[in-house]
Amino acid sequence: MKTMIYNFRRNIMQNIISANMIASCGLDCGICKRALTGTNPCPGCLGPDEKKPEFCRERCGIILCGKRIENGYKYCDECPDYPCADVMEKENRYTSKYPLYESPGENLRVIREHGMEKFLENEREKFTCKECGHVVSVHTGVCSGCGKQYGAQVIQVFDDTWRIENGMVRFFLLKGTEKALLIDSGMTVRHAKQIASALTGLPVFLLNTHADGDHTGGNGQFESFYMHPADEAQYRQDGKTGRVIPVADGDEINLGGRILKIIHLPGHTPGSIAVLDVNHRVLISGDPVQEHGHIFMFGEHRNMKDYIVSLETLEKRTNEFDEIWPSHADFPIYPDCISKLRKGAEKIINGEVTGKETEFFGRKIMVYDLGFTAFLCGE
Ligand code: SF4
Ligand code: SF4
Ligand SMILES: [Zn+2]
Ligand SMILES: [Zn+2]
Ligand SMILES: [Zn+2]
Repeated sequence: MKTMIYNFRRNIMQNIISANMIASCGLDCGICKRALTGTNPCPGCLGPDEKKPEFCRERCGIILCGKRIENGYKYCDECPDYPCADVMEKENRYTSKYPLYESPGENLRVIREHGMEKFLENEREKFTCKECGHVVSVHTGVCSGCGKQYGAQVIQVFDDTWRIENGMVRFFLLKGTEKALLIDSGMTVRHAKQIASALTGLPVFLLNTHADGDHTGGNGQFESFYMHPADEAQYRQDGKTGRVIPVADGDEINLGGRILKIIHLPGHTPGSIAVLDVNHRVLISGDPVQEHGHIFMFGEHRNMKDYIVSLETLEKRTNEFDEIWPSHADFPIYPDCISKLRKGAEKIINGEVTGKETEFFGRKIMVYDLGFTAFLCGE
């Protein structure tokens, strides 16, 4: 019975993504937060006016467009003025300002080239919650069924700095006077570059703290990116493309009035690097330094001895930063955690702490839970 109710609700939600919810500009109203609310849901752009919110009823230039109404255009791409300024405003907003990526223009192109059914199938695939089967809102990234958060949540830390939370991982956007730098590109965010351009208005470059997939998911938007060359082989193994601009320990990147120093921290991966933001006295650490997180140290490219040496390097430089911004778990954390991690790692390789054998995606690993963080090591 439970399964039947679940499937019934799931079908109702999936019907929201349907042809009568596709607006003239190509926007899918089925993923709009106003269409996904429990009380008085909006029927979509093509629905009766009295049920729509004020903006979509009285101020949207596309809905009100006389040319569209007079000529009876179903979709704006039939219009000789396409894409007009109103359409472009909507396109720019939906491809850069929300947690999930939606391109009304791309939608119309897919509908023209592959038909409505194929488009709806793709759209449902993109916006259906993997946990419960309900639709996820493009505006909030929140599933309308179970509340799970998807996509990018952008949080401003300083005037010129943002952190972008993407589920279990976070990445960063730093702005100088001449250029902006994304530090990692997230796991499932496909529009990190658009988000960064919209927030900063500057040319956007990318640096990866290391090659693990949860840090390089949005790399496809960049032709080149800074990465330590020792991680390139691992990056290519996953079939990823783009040109590596090699960086090494001691290198500096100048964003215009903002100097970033590269610190090589091999161990978690051979090419792991941290970025020292000199102006703000912040260390953006990637994966090696975490509190209440899980530091992955199993697999052939991890090396616990190198990791300990890297932490010793950082311990000698704690006079250069006040905060540490890791890619996972607690945020921010403070320099005193570096010694705790180094001592914990030493105890693990000296056999002074007992681990717990666990299965992780079909492989046996040892978990050493030290309370302040856990290390996941090989057998
Ligand atoms: S509020 Fe506007 S964008 Fe959202 S579903 Fe209604 S008509 Fe579409
Ligand atoms: S593209 Fe043409 S029909 Fe669509 S809103 Fe602009 S002017 Fe109107
Ligand atoms: Zn859900
Ligand atoms: Zn990693
Ligand atoms: Zn990671």
